[in-house]
Amino acid sequence: MTVRIGFLGGLGEIGRNCAVIEIDGELALLDCGLMFPEADMLGVDLVLPDFSSVVERKDDVRCVILTHGHEDHIGALAYFLREVNVPVYGSALTVALASSRVEELGIEAEFRAVVPLEWVNEGPFKFALVHVAHSVPQATGVALDTPEGIIVHSGDFKLDPTPIDGEPTDLGTFAGFGRRGVRLLLGDSTNAEVPGFVPSEATVGPPLAEYVGHAEGRVILACFASHIHRVQQAVDAVVASGRKLAFIGRSMLRVTAIATDLGVLEIPPDIVVPLDELANLPPEETAVICTGSQGEPFAALSLMASGSHRSITLAPTDTVILSATPIPGNETAVSRVINNLSRLGVTVHHGRNAPVHVSGHAAQDEVRTFMNVVRPEAFVPVHGEYRHMRANADLARQVGIPEVEICQDGDVVVLDKGKLTVERGVLPAGYVYLDGSGIGDVEEVLRDRRHLADDGVLIVTLGFEISTGEIVFGPEVDSHGLSDEPDEIHAAVAARVIQSLESLEVPSDLDTVRRKVRTAAGRAVKSAVSRRPVVFPVLIEV
Ligand SMILES: [Zn+2]
Ligand SMILES: [Zn+2]
Repeated sequence: MTVRIGFLGGLGEIGRNCAVIEIDGELALLDCGLMFPEADMLGVDLVLPDFSSVVERKDDVRCVILTHGHEDHIGALAYFLREVNVPVYGSALTVALASSRVEELGIEAEFRAVVPLEWVNEGPFKFALVHVAHSVPQATGVALDTPEGIIVHSGDFKLDPTPIDGEPTDLGTFAGFGRRGVRLLLGDSTNAEVPGFVPSEATVGPPLAEYVGHAEGRVILACFASHIHRVQQAVDAVVASGRKLAFIGRSMLRVTAIATDLGVLEIPPDIVVPLDELANLPPEETAVICTGSQGEPFAALSLMASGSHRSITLAPTDTVILSATPIPGNETAVSRVINNLSRLGVTVHHGRNAPVHVSGHAAQDEVRTFMNVVRPEAFVPVHGEYRHMRANADLARQVGIPEVEICQDGDVVVLDKGKLTVERGVLPAGYVYLDGSGIGDVEEVLRDRRHLADDGVLIVTLGFEISTGEIVFGPEVDSHGLSDEPDEIHAAVAARVIQSLESLEVPSDLDTVRRKVRTAAGRAVKSAVSRRPVVFPVLIEV
């Protein structure tokens, strides 16, 4: 029986991880994540996978399986469930985080929490979650028992030997699958270019405690809300320093509440106070844990850095700890926040100047060790940009995995009677943009926005007598983003427009006039300043 694994996202970019598995004509989705827009995606809020090929076959879909609760794995779920409402499986924390995000968008769905190593049968799909260490608790890989053999997906993982919750990656179970025989391993590529081992999450605790303990004034600590082990270590550092604590940021409040309920986060009573109460205490007795480690413009940290937060005004005696490094695309925004904080004279410790962050993804020695434990017949790198997947494929060849295939979004791996083949580019897998509240293909809108951003806009207003070809008023020329001294250009444009309309055959029509105005104005600007603005002819027929 054929097993097909199609990639809808995550292979070729960091983000929007999503795969579709087909067995016996039925489908299961593996992760459903979003991607944060890149710098040239102007005005785009989020980028989603293209689920159209799955939505087309919505009656064949059995379930969604989630590996863990990060946005790049659960963030698009609401948009999928809106079209295809099927049960969603994951660890207790994963489904708690996912369901709260889905409910925020007003969508109801059935979430089923499963414990690792509990086999789930859902139609032709038989699968179990396997615990892995990562930068969110209760992260998992997935083992699928298929008619073509066992398929293992690593999830996002590292081999942290001393994780905060005492639950290292379950190598024993992965080794058990390896002994039974694994047909195919899909493996996290994020850090496949990084030599060695990623340090343990436990190494972050002591420096955090030291910086918080020695801080003169207030302490602001920013990290990902979902990195509950990091939040725990930050809480522990605050508790040790005897300070009072407030959480700021919508996702920080939401996630810490969920994690406390599930017993994944432990906060001693009486230490957390409301923000307005905290603001009235002496700064040296207070600490804040907040969002904004990625430079998000409206997050608490960015507002504090720019002096526009309504409750907290930072002083030079204060200390800010950015317990994170920027994910690709956010470098500039994070740098802006650090610059603003530096201008305020605040002491800033961040992932690049202090040991206050470690990655949640396996580096080369961990990846090779994991491959040797799973010992698959075939390997396909997932979760990474092309360079990361290529590096991961090299590691797989080094440890002697017989078949290694690099795939990209839109490709399908086919297992059939023991043979593995790849169908290239057969699934639609382009970026689907979420823009304001709209969703869909805004490629053309984006092209216009880039054009406007690069070369500005020119508006030519003209009153026109269509039967005689006579210009009754204008041309009036205005521009934005074209030049800081536009008068000369405007005059040149007006002259060229008048000249071009002199050769107009009458009677004419507005479309022809509009075309002539656009061409003439464009040429005038190009010869004056070598730019190609978006030209808007505004024609008033008299
Ligand atoms: Zn991820
Ligand atoms: Zn992750």
